[in-house]
Parts: sequence; structure tokens; C-alpha cells
Amino acid sequence: MKIPKKYFDELSYKITWIEIFQKCGIKYCKNRSIHATKILCPFHDEKTPSMYVNVHKSICHCYGCGETVGMFVFVCKALFGGDRTKTFKWFKKQFNIPIPWEK
Ligand SMILES: [Zn+2]
Repeated sequence: MKIPKKYFDELSYKITWIEIFQKCGIKYCKNRSIHATKILCPFHDEKTPSMYVNVHKSICHCYGCGETVGMFVFVCKALFGGDRTKTFKWFKKQFNIPIPWEK
């Protein structure tokens, strides 16, 4: 099933990356500027953070493995091993974002 774009817009409008990291238990460092939050990439093994968060574009990009993901895919892959149903439920439970096909 295709996820409506509106859903992703709602995520990036209502949620910040920092909130996601906190709820996922991911350590982040905000030492440079708000535009350069860094985390340890959950998609490959590393000791020095090389995943950068672009707060304006609502994406994060890893310079180590080249992964670029938005919030939904980030949580889906990092927490639920790619299970989209669990990811929808998670966003609903944590942030009260309605699941697109539920009324
Ligand atoms: Zn990576």
C-alpha cells in the first residue's frame, strides 16, 4: 500500500528528530549548531557518529554508508526491522499521528 505524502508531511511538521532520538534511545550530539546534529548511524557499525540530521529537510544522511532516510523509514528500519505496520502504530502511540487508512 502506498503511503500518502500527506502522512510524511504531518510527521515532519509535528515531530522533531530530537524527539525521535529520545524515544528511540539514540544518543545524539548537538555540539555544533542546530543544523548539524550528529548520531551514530543505526544502519552500519561505527564508533564515531557520521549520520547528520538536516533539520530543515527532515532527512538524515550518513556519510559512512550513504544511507539517506526520512523519519518514517528511519524508525521503520532502526526499530522495527522494516515492518511498516509496527512503525505506523508506533507513530500513532508516541506522537498521536493517525494511521492514513484508519478513520
Ligand atoms: Zn551509516
